[in-house]
Amino acid sequence: MKQELADFLNMDLQFVRGVGPVLAARFDEVLGGRRVLDFLLHIPRAVRNRGITECVMDSTYGDTITIPLLVKSHKSGGTFGRGRRRPTQITCTDKSGQMVVIQFFNSSYLDYWLKKLPIGAWRIVSGKIEMSGGRPTMTHPDFIEEMQNAQKIPTNQAIYPSGLGLTQKTFANVRDQIFVALPEKLRGADDNTREFFDALRHVHFPESNDDLTPQSTYIAKLAYWELLAHQAAIVLSRKKREDVKNRRTVRPKKYDLIPKLRDALPFELTGAQNRTINEIFADMDADTPMMRLVQGDVGSGKTIVALAAAVKMAESGAQTALLAPTDTLAVQHFAKLKPMCDKIGIVCDILTGRDKGVARREKLISLRSGRTRLVVGTHALFSDDVEYRDLGLVIVDEQHRFGVNQRESLRAKGNNPDLLALSATPIPRTLSMTIYGDMDISIINEKPAGRKPIKTTKLPMARVGDLVSRIRPQIENGAKVFWVCPLVEESEESDMTAVQTRFDALKTIFKNVGLVHGQMDKKQRDAVMQQFADDNSEMNILVATTVIEVGIDVPHATIIVIENAERFGLAALHQLRGRVGRGDAQSFCVLVYGDNISPDGLKRLNVLCETDDGFVIAEQDLMMRGVGELLGTRQSGWIQYHFVDYREHRDLFRLASAAARNNEIDNWTRDLMRIFDCGVNAGA
Ligand code: ADP
Ligand code: MG
Repeated sequence: MKQELADFLNMDLQFVRGVGPVLAARFDEVLGGRRVLDFLLHIPRAVRNRGITECVMDSTYGDTITIPLLVKSHKSGGTFGRGRRRPTQITCTDKSGQMVVIQFFNSSYLDYWLKKLPIGAWRIVSGKIEMSGGRPTMTHPDFIEEMQNAQKIPTNQAIYPSGLGLTQKTFANVRDQIFVALPEKLRGADDNTREFFDALRHVHFPESNDDLTPQSTYIAKLAYWELLAHQAAIVLSRKKREDVKNRRTVRPKKYDLIPKLRDALPFELTGAQNRTINEIFADMDADTPMMRLVQGDVGSGKTIVALAAAVKMAESGAQTALLAPTDTLAVQHFAKLKPMCDKIGIVCDILTGRDKGVARREKLISLRSGRTRLVVGTHALFSDDVEYRDLGLVIVDEQHRFGVNQRESLRAKGNNPDLLALSATPIPRTLSMTIYGDMDISIINEKPAGRKPIKTTKLPMARVGDLVSRIRPQIENGAKVFWVCPLVEESEESDMTAVQTRFDALKTIFKNVGLVHGQMDKKQRDAVMQQFADDNSEMNILVATTVIEVGIDVPHATIIVIENAERFGLAALHQLRGRVGRGDAQSFCVLVYGDNISPDGLKRLNVLCETDDGFVIAEQDLMMRGVGELLGTRQSGWIQYHFVDYREHRDLFRLASAAARNNEIDNWTRDLMRIFDCGVNAGA
């Protein structure tokens, strides 16, 4: 790939006109990266038609319409009573004289809106039309334009998955600028590269929802290339692994620690844990480095399995690094592992971005000297200045949250260390071979004894009141409740309303309610979560968006309420549900669904009410997964493909896998591996 193009793709979004550091930081969270490339790989999920409707009577309530209106009168809102908001209402008429009301709830921009809608003028507005108080009403229109600027309203508007208050207009602006600049960057590029970016352009400027289905030509093309990149990475990684055969450090056993581990465990291992540990031990004794993925449902006890591997490594005096996706999870792992390590007699430490100054230096010295045998941490573990004396084993928890590159940066700190990856998302067997072709797989399909299955029920939104009264006595008895609300992407101005509204409502009923969402900064978020997790704290309800971390352990949490559950995919719901049921007490999950739940949505909820088995759910998920319909795909725990649809692109998996195995890996494939961030460094 030409350097100029590569530089452009790597450019920070903050340098795009109209973006800047604040929005770039939000893009970073929403896109999972802040480069032009990250934006390009984040594609619209739907097309909203904004073609013009002349008469409001011709439209269907609930639809988005674009309509010319004559502004008749203004009635300003404000607050009354106890801070309740009264909308600002602007009365208009359409061509036929039918009255249409435009209303705004947030009064802080009042002057601005009134100026945009002067009395006596025709304006073209676009937004969702609803019946309210017996009159057709549009709340917070997405567009308000003078008649001669009607073309500023896109006829087919691409709707991007968003969040954190990033508006569709911001997305459109960034997209437009990128695609204006792109042709120049592509000068002299080869045909493959051109074809690739041409496909991207089609997908970012879709003309109808058909252009965004997995079967559409351009999506299918991109999906194939994406799969090819991943499959090529697997092939390279496997080759590399074979190359190091016999070059592996042989580490004689110096200490006898495994028996001590058995003594230090506060419980009996399950059969599945024992089997997995044996598989791991056999790998560690073999002459090629271990590459093993342990799949086991939330709560199946993967941490102990990881500890066993670390202890085995420590028998030779070598070190283990356990990589966790967040500070909170690292702290939790450390809190659990440290006492057991103390009993066994190996030094266990934690290293995260929070460690600074002298304390951090001391930790680094202990790592460099080899004294620390097990270090738990976040990406701080592979910072440049972190050195290990003999890193023999890398464990990656919630491995789908890390790119292959990150995993390999950590492995590069040792001499071909063993790799153990942990994943809470079971993947159907039919897929795991193609997805994780370079790994051996162990499955923990058994929960610790005495664990009661989570009682799961579904409930229509209208009955949330009953739910609150049912929960109240439980809370008085000390139960902890997760209350999850999805981010609502639909109305741009109000993607916080669901969670905020619920928080406000619950606060009037219960004393100690916590709130976490994506717009809080990480520290604040972590602090609230820690407080909720703390047994002694009074906080017994945590209202949250899906930012509540995968894998967070609050053993006393016994109830989880998931609002608008129909908007989540099966895997995401299963993972959310896994946040309860971690102790001995009976746990409950309540799936609250909205009025317009689809038949598919209902089917998904039924699957969850019927089974607790992650593998069954994964199979169902694969069968039922609808594209574009679901929120929380980032939470789903599957490999986060940008274009690939697990269900619809099964044949592409096979094609790409065959191509990667049979053909020379050429420059274009290497470019693809770079574009899709799949470990060209690891392989090359
Ligand atoms: P996950 O697989 O989700 O990472 P953890 O390793 O965090 O699960 O284990 C969940 C809980 O179950 C922890 O509190 C752990 O101490 C406990 N646990 C693990 N294995 C067993 C076992 N064999 N018997 C009883 N409790 C166990
Ligand atoms: Mg875990």
